[in-house]
Amino acid sequence: MPELAEVETLRRDLIPLYVGHRLDGIAIMGPRTVRRHRPEMLQALPGEVLGRVGRHGKYLLLGWESGRILVVHLRMSGQLLASAPGAPLASHTHAVLYFEDAPELRFVDPRTFGELFVASPPDGAGTVAEIDHLGPDAVVVEAKYLERALAGRRAPLKSIMLDQSVLAGIGNIYADEICFAARLRPDRAAGSLRATQVDRLARSVRSVLEAAISKRGSTLGDGQYVDLRGRSGSYQTQHMVYGRAGQPCRVCGQEVVKLALGARSAFACLGCQS
Ligand SMILES: [Zn+2]
Repeated sequence: MPELAEVETLRRDLIPLYVGHRLDGIAIMGPRTVRRHRPEMLQALPGEVLGRVGRHGKYLLLGWESGRILVVHLRMSGQLLASAPGAPLASHTHAVLYFEDAPELRFVDPRTFGELFVASPPDGAGTVAEIDHLGPDAVVVEAKYLERALAGRRAPLKSIMLDQSVLAGIGNIYADEICFAARLRPDRAAGSLRATQVDRLARSVRSVLEAAISKRGSTLGDGQYVDLRGRSGSYQTQHMVYGRAGQPCRVCGQEVVKLALGARSAFACLGCQS
């Protein structure tokens, strides 16, 4: 599932290809992809010029010159692909955006949990109602904020980090990698961290995500995540714990374990994390 680092990689690649280009048309083949509102809202976009590409957590925000925002949420298996006009459609292509003098932008999603929708107009503070439930974007999180967010929480640290209303953008892979970098067990109570540990956690959130962005995200064995051009990321080769149960820790040599965490699980090194 694409997380912050993968979505940010897409965002950075979208800008030079599409910003400043006019949208000529939209074709919708998969109605479930646009289930949130009436199709007319999307069909009002053609003719507009793309002004900016933003991101909050795992949501991509395509901002048009009129102020409208097209939100793209990839969820489990969504992909955005820049394709030569007229190239054969991949199976599970649910929407195509046609731009003037730019590749077709295609939304491909085998599991169909992903979606595209036009947000209601932002209010004076620039808030988009549909993503107002999200916490701050993880890549800019501060220790002070985390300290308040974790205080008194008895849930496991990893569960809180996955809670998008606390921190937006972190999923399974980076939650485990961040806990390892911070030398904290993912199954410890989130509210049990001392101030120095919260500091370390905040720094690890930023440093792991920045490193992952610099490697263009993680593509796992399923090959599901690819960038706009269909290429894999390479951060998976630097994972310290995620998906490495039974293998030696790259720092201390102890075996990486998979911990049960309610209905979820977490990878960790109990030699390095406490
Ligand atoms: Zn270790």
